[in-house]
This record gives sequence, structure tokens and C-alpha cells, in this order.
Amino acid sequence: MRASTLLLVTLRDDPAEAEITSHKLLVRAGFIRRIAAGIYAYLPLMWRVLRKVQAIVREEMEAVDAIETLLPQLQPADLWQQSGRWSAYTAGEGIMFHLSDRQGRQLGLGPTHEEVITCLAAELIRSYRQLPVCLYQMQTKFRDEIRPRFGMMRGREFIMKDAYSFHGDEADLKAYYARMDGAYRRIFRRCGLRTLAVQADSGAIGGSASQEFMVVADAGEDLVLISGDGSYAANQERAVSLPSQAVPLEDTKPRNVSTPGQMTIEAVCGGHGLDPTQMVKVLLHRARFGDGPDQLVLTALRGDQELNDTKLGNAVTAGAGRGTLLDLALLDGGDLALPFGFLGPDLGDPAIAAATGVEGPILRFRDHTAAALHTFVCGANTVDTHRVCDWDTLALTWRDGDFRNAQPGDRCRHDPTTVLEAVRGIEVGHIFQLGCKYSEALAARFSTAEGGEEALWMGCYGIGISRLAQAAIEQHHDGDGMVWPTAIAPFEVVVSVANVQRPEQLALGERLYDQLRLAGVDVLLDDRPERAGVKFKDADLLGIPWRVVVGRGAAREQVELKPRTRPCLDCTAADLLATLLPRLERERQEMSLS
Ligand code: ATP
Ligand code: MG
Repeated sequence: MRASTLLLVTLRDDPAEAEITSHKLLVRAGFIRRIAAGIYAYLPLMWRVLRKVQAIVREEMEAVDAIETLLPQLQPADLWQQSGRWSAYTAGEGIMFHLSDRQGRQLGLGPTHEEVITCLAAELIRSYRQLPVCLYQMQTKFRDEIRPRFGMMRGREFIMKDAYSFHGDEADLKAYYARMDGAYRRIFRRCGLRTLAVQADSGAIGGSASQEFMVVADAGEDLVLISGDGSYAANQERAVSLPSQAVPLEDTKPRNVSTPGQMTIEAVCGGHGLDPTQMVKVLLHRARFGDGPDQLVLTALRGDQELNDTKLGNAVTAGAGRGTLLDLALLDGGDLALPFGFLGPDLGDPAIAAATGVEGPILRFRDHTAAALHTFVCGANTVDTHRVCDWDTLALTWRDGDFRNAQPGDRCRHDPTTVLEAVRGIEVGHIFQLGCKYSEALAARFSTAEGGEEALWMGCYGIGISRLAQAAIEQHHDGDGMVWPTAIAPFEVVVSVANVQRPEQLALGERLYDQLRLAGVDVLLDDRPERAGVKFKDADLLGIPWRVVVGRGAAREQVELKPRTRPCLDCTAADLLATLLPRLERERQEMSLS
């Protein structure tokens, strides 16, 4: 391809819309253009990268016997109603774009495809003889993200590879999940990414085991906790740890304590010489469900702990025994007639109902760290007052569980002598063991060898193709621009003709361009009538792994061979191929083997 026909428009300055390096570089180098919030055009250079990523993904999917397909993006509401996800995905903070057709029928634009694929499986899979089977597709997904940002990292329209597998039993699902795990590791390695496989929360999708693949990068939106010995890694949403030891309370006599204006843990501790581990704090949430009235949730945590919204959300879903949890909103003041800042665990149902107008039983959750305290200081449900008390005196019934965030520095459960460390990660892939949730909801059943009929066991496996491509830049760049891993670079080599007005330079450039193409190299000829300096800067910005400079030495058949991040090698036109090809081949392979 010729740069003169590429519609290459590079920018000297960082675009105002971009916050993180990869986003800045992709816009500056003319890979992407923003059309609206979270909606980007993939320009020709970007599309080349995306196709290379897709080619690698395709090879590795075929290697685990997954078969490519293409499913509709417009999906009827009734499929999502059958799985029970329509309201969660369309109401409240739901992320599904949805619409009505001319007959008034409701449709959604696919954010994911469990419903569609399970509906197909219900029709196509009859017998255990057809199992296991795995279908995948690579396609644009639509999600009306609350905070689209960072370019392709969190788009409202993005490219995903999603695969769905079907099995006759759990053991077969687990075995296939392990094969997929291997395929994912190979994909990321071949794309030149350093990733970390971490335990993950399964989220709205449901199911049991799930694992995310994180590209370690400071710009990552996820916090990952890893044990010092490397044997445990989990997304903070899911991570567990041993809490620090609580400092025992010296004076355990039950009494009220005057705490004027002391509305925070710090203020009470500061005012009374207490340690935060000696306190219990109380949080109130309003849970909204897909069906029926709201319900209030009271959570008690040890004073030094942070609530983990994901864990609490999961417990509320399980504990309420209701439809889908749409939203869990923290109540912290406003117009409510409750003594916020002084709430105690025994805040009564009637008081809460009176203040919020929400009737019905309060769901009461207590974190293990709070439950383990015998005597503690907590709010007295009266303004400017706390109290010293114990759980026996309060005589309440709790749902105990782990509702706290594990934190860096916490001791690990598997080995208390190691502690958790934090790194930031970009989630590029997520694999799930779904179990029978969708097959049961959508009646996808098969006949067993014994003649019975059972629901299919399912797994699903996603990769954010477009996010992955951008994450690669987050890991591979320098002060001059992007540094693409060879396997996914838009071009492997750029032949830069320093001065296209010089016939001998242009002729040699064209000749080398042809030779490289014939040798199977993915090469760009920079034949633009620009100054040499501009072309070199652009080549660096674009991050093409190798640059061949055809300049003044052209008359003597002399060229420069410049790897993107290493010093130049002088070579003659005649031995360019012999010098470059083995190195290039090694780079293409390196990623796939290492
Ligand atoms: P996140 O937690 O980042 O919102 P998710 O858990 O909702 O992602 P999945 O449903 O697991 O995402 O989707 C599979 C993959 O698709 C993710 O691992 C991620 O790489 C990618 N992905 C998800 N949402 C987006 C998005 N808005 N823009 C780009 N890629 C995305
Ligand atoms: Mg995910």
C-alpha cells in the first residue's frame, strides 16, 4: 500500500478529547476518529490492526474446534424476557440500546448474545451425539455505557469476539473451559500483550466460575489484587483477604457517648481516642428490582473497612429472592429524616420505612469483620450520639458474609505470610462457566445417552477485539509514538523515500517495495511529497516495526534499515531482504512461541 493513497492525516498535538496515551496516539496517528461519544470510525490503519488481531483470534479459536458464525445484532425483546434480563438491560442503568419496530414490537441492539445462541441451540441441538460444540463470532456490539471513555477502551459500539460452548455435563464444560483458557493465553501472547488471568465476578451474566484477562497498565479501569507469591490474583470486585486484626476496646461498659458533629469514623476516633477497627458503621441502600416495589438494605461493616458494591449486590440478589436487581443506591442524607452519621445497626424497620416511604422487611447484612467484634462503638440512631454496645444486646438477625473490599496490604487467605499487592488492569477478555442458567430459561435441552432429557451446560468466552488493540498501545509506546508488536502492526515495514523528486530514490523505493511485497512482507511505501523529516516522524508515530530509508545513498544502492526502537543498520539494497527477512520472521514467531 502507498501512503499517498492512504488518506493519512496525522496531528502534531494531542487531541483535547483524549486523556490516556493510547487514545491520544491513536487519534494523532490517524487510526481512529470520534463520531460521537463512545462511537469511533476505525480508519484504514486501525482496521488493518483489527483484522490482524481477528486473524490471530480466528486461528486460536479454530485450534480449539470453535466454529465461526454470525448472529443478528437486532434481537427481539421476548428472548431477553425469557432469560429474565430484558428489564435489567433496558431499565435503570441498563446498557442495551432498544427500540420499537413499525409494528410496535420491542427490539434490542445486541450487547451480548447468550439469548440468541441459546435459542438456536434449543432448535438445533437434539442429542448428546452433537456435543460438545462451540460457535463464535466477531462482530460489533452495542452498549449504552454510562461513562464511555478512553476511545476504544469503553466504546458504545465496539468489536467483540464472543464464543458459546454447549456440553452434556459439567465435567465436559470444565474441560473445554480449560482449553479456552489456553487459547486465550496464546492469543494475548501472540498479540504481544502481557496479561494476567484473574478470578472475576460473573456480574449480570450469571453462572459460576469466571476469569478475566487483564492487560497490566496504569490506565486500566480495574483494580487487580495479586498475592506476593503470585499464586492468587483477583479483580477487587471479587478478591478476598484476611482483614487486619481489630484493636480490642478497653472500656466495654455499655453506654452512650456524646459525639457532637462527629459524623465520620475519623471524627469519632479522633474525638475519643478510638481505632477505626473498634467501630461498626452502617450503610443504607435502596434496592430497585425489575419487578415489584423497592426494598431497603442495611449493611454493617467494621469501621476501617470499605464496602464492596459487587459482593453486596450479589448477596442482595440472592437474599431478596426477587427478580433482577436493577440498581443499589446508597442513601446518605438528602431530605430523609434519619440521623445519618449516627446510624446504628439496630436502626429499626419502622423508622426506616417512615423516613423513606419504602415498606417491607429490611434486608440486613453484616460483614464478617463486624460480626467478629464483641463490643464496639456505633451510632446510637440519635443525632450527636454514639454508643458502646455488643451484638447480644442488639439481638438482631443478620445475613453474615464477606461484603468488604480486599485491599492492597491485606494478608492472603491461602497464606497469611504473603500480602496482596495492587496493579491496574484493562480487561481484554472474560471467560465464564455459565452452567444451565440460559439453557433452562430458554428450554435448550438434549437427549442423553441413557435416553433422558437434560438442559445443556454452557460456557461463554469474550474478547474485546477493539479494546485489546488499544491496550497494546498502552503497553507499547514511547515518546515518539506507538511501538506495535510486529504480529498486529498495521504494516511490518515502511519504505520511506526521503525525496520523491529524486528519480533514483523513487525508483529504488518502488523496487524495494515490490521485492518486499513479493517476499510476503506487509509493507507500506511512503511516497508522499513531504519532507523526509515529516515522514520519519510519522513512521515513528505510526509505530511500524521496521523503516527502510531510501535517501541520498540511493545512487550507490545504499539504504538504512531502522528498527522502531533500536539503532539503524546500514545495508545495501541487494542485501536488504537477506538482512531483514530473518529478523522479521523471528519477531513474527517470537510472540507466538515465548
Ligand atoms: P467491563 O467490565 O469493562 O464493562 P464487561 O465485563 O461488561 O466489561 P464482557 O461482557 O465480559 O465485558 O465483554 C467481553 C469483553 O468485551 C470484555 O472483556 C472487554 O474486553 C470487552 N468490552 C466490554 N465492554 C466494552 C466496551 N464498552 N468497549 C470496548 N470493549 C468492551
Ligand atoms: Mg467482563
